[in-house]
Amino acid sequence: MFENKESEKTPLNQLGEFGLIEKLTKDFRSSNAETLKGIGDDAAVLDFKEHKCVISTDLLIEGVHFNLSYMPLKHLGYKAVIVNLSDIYAMNAVPKQITVSLAVSNRFPLEALEELYAGIKLACELYKVDLVGGDTTTSTTGLVLSITAVGDAKEDSLVFRDGAKENDLLVVSGDVGAAYMGLQVLERENEVFKVNPKNQPDLTPYSYIIERQLKPEARKDIITLLEQLEVVPTSMIDISDGLSSEILHICNNSGVGCNLYEDKIPLDPTVISSCEEFKLDSTLVALSGGEDYELLFTINQKEFPKIKGNPNLTVVGHITAKSEGAHLVSRNNSKIPLTAQGWNSFAKA
Ligand code: ADP
Ligand code: MG
Repeated sequence: MFENKESEKTPLNQLGEFGLIEKLTKDFRSSNAETLKGIGDDAAVLDFKEHKCVISTDLLIEGVHFNLSYMPLKHLGYKAVIVNLSDIYAMNAVPKQITVSLAVSNRFPLEALEELYAGIKLACELYKVDLVGGDTTTSTTGLVLSITAVGDAKEDSLVFRDGAKENDLLVVSGDVGAAYMGLQVLERENEVFKVNPKNQPDLTPYSYIIERQLKPEARKDIITLLEQLEVVPTSMIDISDGLSSEILHICNNSGVGCNLYEDKIPLDPTVISSCEEFKLDSTLVALSGGEDYELLFTINQKEFPKIKGNPNLTVVGHITAKSEGAHLVSRNNSKIPLTAQGWNSFAKA
């Protein structure tokens, strides 16, 4: 995880808007040939030649999407970039540029925003994307952060949500449910901390699930792998709201049904043990937890030999006719209709 450095605080009103932008962006250099003009003019200029341009944006509000009492600013910056890149990868495209827009109150000194930008910069470096612009304004209360990602794809390699066909295999990358369980641990420790600030919890047993919550990664590696294997999915989506809701997006958009097998859902052992501890059903957590940023996609059955045995990919089910509906096939072989329980309805359950 990241380290937090303790230093003097510079109030934002000492800098002014332009001084702040300069401070935050001075160490960013563009490295993609597609970035003709980055920060510093009225607009950025991008050139994708004969390729298609893919664009996606996200808005994050303090108190709604993140809680700064357990989300360090550097992690927030990193994660905010990752969630956008994940959307671009889910189109089977390659992210190239981002813009970052901020609304901040005087509660944040320069040093806090520099932490945020250190996380943004780390993500830019690791995923080879250029920061090409943004906007900076004041907020009366919390922090608001909006990131837009721009990506590049050949027209015939773009993958949408609507291409799944009957008998296709349903595949998921990595494992699911961990970010939600990481959040449960962080929220529990935050409550303990409020009562007893001296308490120093040992979070080592939870390091995987906490890392999945605080420092998620986008599955760039899966996009590269699929290209190497010469597999073009018939449909794809990233798992931001939970497996169930994403499967239903694919089924609804593609006009198909599916069978998802409970015993095939990939779960990390720490997810299983923490679910036992929190008395939660691990299947429900996988289906409705969210924030996994794994990829869910469908492939034609004839592609199966190419992905078979790959430790990063799990076949979790198959696509059926629309008339059959979308179901979870449980361990005792009963069929339960999948419902799009979002994050909130699950949290209340
Ligand atoms: P304008 O007044 O035309 O909106 P700004 O002064 O807001 O221009 O921005 C100047 C330059 O700095 C632009 O290239 C803009 O995209 C960039 N920029 C502004 N705020 C940010 C930010 N928070 N992060 C990155 N780049 C930014
Ligand atoms: Mg502006």
